[in-house]
Amino acid sequence: MKKISVIVSVYNEEKVLNDFYIETKNVLEQCCWDFEIIFVNDGSHDNSLALLNEIVNKDNKVKVISFSKNFGHEAAMIAGIDYSSGDGVVCMDADLQHPPELIPKIIEKFNEGYEVISMVRTKNQDAGLLKNITSTMFYKILNMMSPVKFENNASDFFAIASNAANVLKKEYRERMRFLRGYVQIIGFNKIVIEYEANDRRAGESKYSIKKLVNFSINALLSFSDLPLKLGIFSGLIVAIIGFILMIYTIYTKLVYNAPSGYATIIVVLCFMFSLMFIIIGIIGEYIAIIFAEIKNRPIYIIKETKNLKSIDESEE
Ligand code: UDP
Ligand code: MG
Repeated sequence: MKKISVIVSVYNEEKVLNDFYIETKNVLEQCCWDFEIIFVNDGSHDNSLALLNEIVNKDNKVKVISFSKNFGHEAAMIAGIDYSSGDGVVCMDADLQHPPELIPKIIEKFNEGYEVISMVRTKNQDAGLLKNITSTMFYKILNMMSPVKFENNASDFFAIASNAANVLKKEYRERMRFLRGYVQIIGFNKIVIEYEANDRRAGESKYSIKKLVNFSINALLSFSDLPLKLGIFSGLIVAIIGFILMIYTIYTKLVYNAPSGYATIIVVLCFMFSLMFIIIGIIGEYIAIIFAEIKNRPIYIIKETKNLKSIDESEE
């Protein structure tokens, strides 16, 4: 019998965990595949871990990985994938925005031979107008700048077969990750399923504006080198403007014997320096990514696991 691994990242989700578990388990029990639910506790400091321990004690299909601190949603999904043993893996949020009722449809697609299933939301009631607009803009800019084509409104709700999961387990161990991006570039037999995102069942969104901005910048820099080329483009344009200015200055000097312009010098200096600093800043961002890669620090640190063997043991 085939098995599906459901991976759930949990960060301070005490208000929704029980609902999530009950509803998801109900759906999974009616599926024709065996299942495991791997909760990844991403350094929660509310009652989430105690609740997870209660669940794991009464249900041996549930597994728990606990991080030593908050490493972020992407790291949590990676850890879940690392420890998954199913023939198919589904990543989901704990707040029930990703409807568990779609799991049978995902399994159906696996049975049809699809290996990468991107879930694309058609509607997100919960997100306000601002979040919806910025999210659409983000995908537009990303698609403009990156050679990779992203589904608009791709979410962290996706499913991959074990062969694709193995690729993520062994390759793509970058420090700055954008899992949605990997799902687009690894190839395999791909299909898109559209879904309507539910409202968050309870609690608040854990993605602050700051986290979202960082996340978007990382995604852009990891999947595009266009910003680096900005230096060449703007350098060329400034050189052309500079050349025209030079001819003009020589002309006015020779023909009208005009006095040299102090204001012009200041304007040109300000323009040149701001341009230079912007370009140095962009190069700096890429160097920061290289620096993070070279340090090779762990993507996540596990404090304890429940009902799970360590990866080394399970490989033996
Ligand atoms: N999450 C996490 N670590 C974090 C932030 C969020 O594991 O640092 C989890 C969170 O518990 C939830 C999922 O990631 O299961 C999505 O987060 P959230 O619902 O807050 O994001 P939103 O849906 O508002 O974008
Ligand atoms: Mg959510």
